[in-house]
Amino acid sequence: MNDFNKFSELTYQEILNKINNDQGNSFISIDQTIQDSKKVIAIKDIHAQKDFITTNASKMLSNYTSIYDSTVVKQLKKHGYSIIGHTNMDEFAMGSTNQSSFYGPVKSVYSDDYVSGGSSGGSAYAVAKGLIPVATGTDTGGSIRQPAALNGIYGMKPTYGLISRYGTFSLSSSFDTIGILSNSLNDNAQVINDLACNDSYDQTNYVPEDFNPLKTINQGVKGLKVGIMRSWLEEDGVDKEIKQATLEYVEELKKSGCEIIEIDVPLTSYSFELYIALAYAEASSNLNRYDGIKFGMSDIKQEGSIYENARSNFGTNVKKRLIIGTYMINSEHAQTFYGHAQKIRQLITNDFNKIFTTVDCIIAPTVPTLGILAGEKMQEQTAYLSDKFVIPANLVGIPAMSMPYKTSIKGQPIGVQIMANKYNEHIIYQVAKFME
Ligand code: GLN
Repeated sequence: MNDFNKFSELTYQEILNKINNDQGNSFISIDQTIQDSKKVIAIKDIHAQKDFITTNASKMLSNYTSIYDSTVVKQLKKHGYSIIGHTNMDEFAMGSTNQSSFYGPVKSVYSDDYVSGGSSGGSAYAVAKGLIPVATGTDTGGSIRQPAALNGIYGMKPTYGLISRYGTFSLSSSFDTIGILSNSLNDNAQVINDLACNDSYDQTNYVPEDFNPLKTINQGVKGLKVGIMRSWLEEDGVDKEIKQATLEYVEELKKSGCEIIEIDVPLTSYSFELYIALAYAEASSNLNRYDGIKFGMSDIKQEGSIYENARSNFGTNVKKRLIIGTYMINSEHAQTFYGHAQKIRQLITNDFNKIFTTVDCIIAPTVPTLGILAGEKMQEQTAYLSDKFVIPANLVGIPAMSMPYKTSIKGQPIGVQIMANKYNEHIIYQVAKFME
């Protein structure tokens, strides 16, 4: 366990000092009480932790302390990890730039002119900067892989359902997946393995009996069948250096004895539109609970209803999405938008299933551009572009990882994405290990 070992040589106080002296704003809260530097890990501010504040980077929950541990936290404690604190993120995990956090933005480790990406931007920054060895993230539409790529680290989104979502705040329930960001590949696989457990509190959770993400990690790649999403590389807006790096990656695999097969799922060109119809709708339903009575703050001394007061604690981005999402599922439109989108989602799933009868894994870029410039104006348009290659794995529920591969001429990190069939995380780690 490379990085965990390195960090265990430091005292807990030394690690805390590193975090406190850094200007990157990657943490929302820190636990001063643990005093153990063994297997130090940070968690995204989205997993409920008993007697500890969990805010989802929202004013709405800025005073919320959980009365129980999420399954993620339970598993980490059970396996002897020291949870050092909660990392910054986009508010309620909605965003691709970490600029919507109530606690302020996080910049990329590469340059202050660029954002860390999102929504797990704090986790990505803290790991890439070497403040901590490993952090958790959640990936609903790329929120682990995109910031991992932008900061030059590993970001694994496992199979949907592998890790229980119990106690992890819901954004869009049929997409939300918990995963890991790290500098070391072995650490990454190890934590995924420790988090995967059967949990009756999450009905979508399932772990096959023989699941072991490390089982083929040192086997090399000879004989593997590798698919390449050629059409994605030809799309407008894909940076030349990213295209080049992805092709070199595939070439390297070919030279090492892999069979390369060109594949295509044309319907993935609608991924972003499907994501809006489905994920925003689910989000609007999930975030209903923040009404100032069941959950969320409401200042009853203020004029207006409790509900109105509560809702004013949401940031602009969240409000906008809840309005769009509600529109998508109101009784007049539910079939046109949500129903239709589910059908297309199924067609895309069928296509991927078919492809996985002929290939072991798929290679694609993680993001189309070398970075996202900080600043309000860039936010939406660039962010939408930036998610188009990561969303398909969420639509289908398959595991996908971004691995750091090269740097651009200017020194920006370039990530390559490896996808595999459900519960074939071991193939992703096997390929990544070989290419490391
Ligand atoms: N960037 C996407 C969004 O804005 C994905 C978020 C996520 O994966 N949590 O919704």
